[in-house]
Amino acid sequence: MIIDFHTHTFPEELAERAVAKLAKSARAKNYLNGTVVDLRRSMKEAGVDYSVLLPVVTKPDQQRSINRLALEINFHSHETGLLSFGGIHPDNEDYRQILRQCADNGVKGIKLHPIFQQTYLDDIRYLRIIDCACEHGLIILVHAGYDISYPQRDFASAAHILPVLDRLKPDRFILAHMGGWLCWTEAEEQLVGRDVWLDTSFCLLPIRPAPGTQRDPGENPPLGKEQFLRMVRRHGADRILFGTDSPWDPQQASITALKESGLTPEELSAILGDNAAGLLGLAKRKKGGIKEI
Ligand SMILES: [Zn+2]
Repeated sequence: MIIDFHTHTFPEELAERAVAKLAKSARAKNYLNGTVVDLRRSMKEAGVDYSVLLPVVTKPDQQRSINRLALEINFHSHETGLLSFGGIHPDNEDYRQILRQCADNGVKGIKLHPIFQQTYLDDIRYLRIIDCACEHGLIILVHAGYDISYPQRDFASAAHILPVLDRLKPDRFILAHMGGWLCWTEAEEQLVGRDVWLDTSFCLLPIRPAPGTQRDPGENPPLGKEQFLRMVRRHGADRILFGTDSPWDPQQASITALKESGLTPEELSAILGDNAAGLLGLAKRKKGGIKEI
């Protein structure tokens, strides 16, 4: 069973423009075109059973359409293998109602992106959302570390994550990008071993420059294999989730990178899907599809 816990798609009519804009600001070339159709094609090729979609609400009023789309996607999960989290913005004053609706409608979790939402993770607005999401049993996945498009913005490094862990002790809290994109030493020292899950997205492969842009070979190097393995083992392979950040990393090559990273077969199958299946309450059906347990 392979579950990609970190993917992004956009509504068909927005995908081309949205992906082009992000590719330009990140100076990184996308692998897929950002549509659900392209992601499903990639899943089939790479043998991915399930992809978790993580919508990011960048303006408070977007939450309504984003969460409506999440429900539509989840209605067809059994056929498509796509499962969408919900989205929320720190400025959504009706956060209690939004989170309750997500939970009542069977949405498994929410995505928070402190950099795109320009709010420190330990801001009171996020603390309230995280606390309330926990009450409703929602999984919380947070972008952690820096963002490729905003190199200087530190909204979600260990300094802003630790107060959340200490104050709220969220029980199903996932830090993307191995605990902190581009600040992996800090993540290893301060977050590894804490009661969190780490996803492997956008960490292990070199970044491809977008057409017409340049990247120095040493710019934003990936997390080295040796440090990755050390982090996995110190943290516990049962708390690591495979993710790609598709369309920004390719699913097939990301799976290959994990297979070649030196993990044992047990660690590999835990990370590629078993841990995620447990967290999401999913089991594989005998004849291919996926059923909920
Ligand atoms: Zn992402």
